[in-house]
Amino acid sequence: MAIAPLLPQRAAIAIAIMIEIESGLIVRGGYNVAMTEIMVAGKIDLYDLTREEMVGLLGEWGYSAYHAIRLWQGLYREGARSLDEIEGLRPDLLAQLHNQTAAVALPVRLATKSSDGFTEKFLLELPDGEEIETVLMLFKGRATACVSTQAGCAMGCVFCATGQMGFRRHLTAGEIVGQVLHIMRLQEEEDMALRNVVFMGMGEPLHNYEATMKALAILTDAHGLAMAPKHMTISTVGIVPGIRRLADEGRPYKLAVSLHGATDEERQALVPPAKRWPLNILMDACRYYSAKSGRRIFFEWTLIAGENDTAEQAHALGRLLQGMEAHVNLIPLNPTQGYGGQPADAERAKAFQGVLREYGLPSTVRQRRGIDIAAGCGQLRATTL
Ligand code: SAH
Ligand code: SF4
Repeated sequence: MAIAPLLPQRAAIAIAIMIEIESGLIVRGGYNVAMTEIMVAGKIDLYDLTREEMVGLLGEWGYSAYHAIRLWQGLYREGARSLDEIEGLRPDLLAQLHNQTAAVALPVRLATKSSDGFTEKFLLELPDGEEIETVLMLFKGRATACVSTQAGCAMGCVFCATGQMGFRRHLTAGEIVGQVLHIMRLQEEEDMALRNVVFMGMGEPLHNYEATMKALAILTDAHGLAMAPKHMTISTVGIVPGIRRLADEGRPYKLAVSLHGATDEERQALVPPAKRWPLNILMDACRYYSAKSGRRIFFEWTLIAGENDTAEQAHALGRLLQGMEAHVNLIPLNPTQGYGGQPADAERAKAFQGVLREYGLPSTVRQRRGIDIAAGCGQLRATTL
């Protein structure tokens, strides 16, 4: 609880940012315009371009769409590690690409593997020296990448290590894609291809809406990596304008909403943005999303012993979600330096699930992974800072 005195200040920053989001400054991309201009050593980051943008850029240089598609396929379908590996590019185009663009892997500063071998965490360095963490998780028959969307986070959730470090900056789409490419390249050497990406690393994806959507468009592009949209999961702390925008834009990804409390009082104590968007407003947006998308929503609930693992909270959650197409993911609290709470034990988690069943709500207790290397949910931070 060492950081407790800082919390009101952090909550105030979070509220200020909420206002910016609502006024459209961030969700509509005010910040991201600047972010996409972050270039690698003064060059355009090719991984930051959608296929349409690549066609546009090469078009400006006088090359037809054919050349742009060749480049795109070389980078993504063939997984070229350098421009020189891509066959069929005209020498003059290659020279111009070398001159004005970069397609560089994010350098790995630290790699740690959990003792059970199922989780690996990478500290990656960004061009301006900021650091982020990305996690590879192996489950039976599938590999999942957990990617960051921001360096740090402005939301200030009390139990989250990323929230405890504060906000550093938004990532560009290229920096998000770069994390997936890193994991993909590792998996190429293994039998298990990377199939799932969860946007549950450092940061709040809907606070960096434009770059997150752009990264998703790049990852799912049919001419390139062609990852399945249904295998992409966006997890949000509950940014209401962002949830509504996902629905309005018909984005085909999975949505997870972090609840942690089923009454405003309980939720606000854990998640500062809950002050800006009380539960009735958040749930309205969730119902709107469900109706428009026809998809169920995953609700995340960090189980904290004696705090939100009680039968009373389980019943309140049951009442809140009853009748919705919903699935609850229960995550026993992972330890972080700035929060003194304890995880709920397996028995409490089971009892919690039992109550949810009474309301017809399916739930899963998330397998705890990578706790020994601080790679679990909410444990990510730039460790070398
Ligand atoms: N910002 C997004 C995504 C990143 S956090 C969000 O908040 O949803 C991913 C998940 O980890 C969220 O559900 C978050 O509430 C949860 N989480 C954060 N800190 C945690 C901790 N210490 N233990 C368990 N889960 C945690
Ligand atoms: Fe940010 Fe999510 Fe952590 Fe909250 S739980 S501080 S929104 S990363």
